[in-house]
Amino acid sequence: MKVLVVNAGSSSLKYQLINMNGESVLAKGNVERIGMPEPLLKHTVQDKETVEIHGDFKDHVAALKKVIETLVDEKLGVIGSMDEISAVGHRVVHGGERFSSSVIIDDEVMEAIEANIELAPLHNPANIMGIQACRNIMPNTPMVAVFDTAFHQTMPQKAFMYAVPYSVYEDLGVRRYGFHGTSHKYVSLKAAAMLGKPVESLKIITCHLGNGSSIAAVDCGKSIDTSMGFTPLEGLPMGTRSGSIDPAILSYLMDKENLTCEEVNRILNKDSGMLGLSGLSSDFRDLHNAAAEGNKRAQLALDVFNYEVKKYIAAYAAAMGGVDCIVFTAGIGENTPRVREKSCSGLEFMGIKIDDEKNQKVLGRLNTEGEISTDDSSVKVLVVPTNEELMIARETLELI
Ligand code: AMP
Repeated sequence: MKVLVVNAGSSSLKYQLINMNGESVLAKGNVERIGMPEPLLKHTVQDKETVEIHGDFKDHVAALKKVIETLVDEKLGVIGSMDEISAVGHRVVHGGERFSSSVIIDDEVMEAIEANIELAPLHNPANIMGIQACRNIMPNTPMVAVFDTAFHQTMPQKAFMYAVPYSVYEDLGVRRYGFHGTSHKYVSLKAAAMLGKPVESLKIITCHLGNGSSIAAVDCGKSIDTSMGFTPLEGLPMGTRSGSIDPAILSYLMDKENLTCEEVNRILNKDSGMLGLSGLSSDFRDLHNAAAEGNKRAQLALDVFNYEVKKYIAAYAAAMGGVDCIVFTAGIGENTPRVREKSCSGLEFMGIKIDDEKNQKVLGRLNTEGEISTDDSSVKVLVVPTNEELMIARETLELI
């Protein structure tokens, strides 16, 4: 059985065709610059060089048509016909309070996803375009929506409420939703499997540290708290996002610098975080290189990040009344031993001890996963490369 996983952005469409017998990726790719000048499809077949295909992809339908054409192409393709695709799994960013798990897409579900546009104005419209393109081209193929927010719908009210007038929640839906749910779910399940224990018996803290970063407290397989909130801006400082700040800073900045809402939003989303603090880069590789050469602000940015990760780990251990396992994942979590070491240092009092040698060796980019805690660490610390596409494909298969 083959499942096509689609992740549509406003001008991009990423895809993976996964053979669920053995869970191998047959082909993957990305259409970039849809509706813009010189759009490009980059297509990679397992173990082969990436090919670049130019075309006039004026919208998502045109882009997806080319993707399907390429997948069934004699030379570049991996399947004989479109009928070999048993189902399509779509990444959808915001499921609001309506969706606490993945669902088969029908007209009613489409309406509900559209109703959530207000909560994710940058993402849900693009996800909808991806779904519509697929429904248009493959009307008889079952489709499933997998939401970034769904995994966190198990949070208790005390964790998802903000202490603002209750009507703000009731009338406007302002609450913590959390994001990266598919990743937090995947790595917590994988960690339990690596430890050889049922996830229902474990208290796990999952640290998804990438360009966007979030941490979740996963108690017995259920998310009970997470650092991102109403939007993906809350929580940890990120590549270019501020993370949590005193909310009064917004009105102060707007007042002092005569800024509009949009301008302040841009500053907090695009000019802040590691880039804002360092004045150099949002990329952790650049920051570590610069810090090694004595750049103090690059070092400061890294210190702030590691300190915040550490505080969340301790806070979520408190929230769960203990912790059995900490998981690091995503670009930084998988590839940066120094961040793992620094964000766990000082937590020895909680039974968290990192083994330096193991920590240096486990790198997601080398396809390694594994334990990086010492044998006598009472909390197991693991590195688990995330795989959101596979999780989407698995949930799709389960539902159809
Ligand atoms: P992501 O959003 O998950 O792709 O993560 C992006 C971040 O991960 C950037 O800050 C990168 O510096 C970092 N990163 C990604 N790949 C590597 C790598 N191979 N080595 C070190 N850092 C990496």
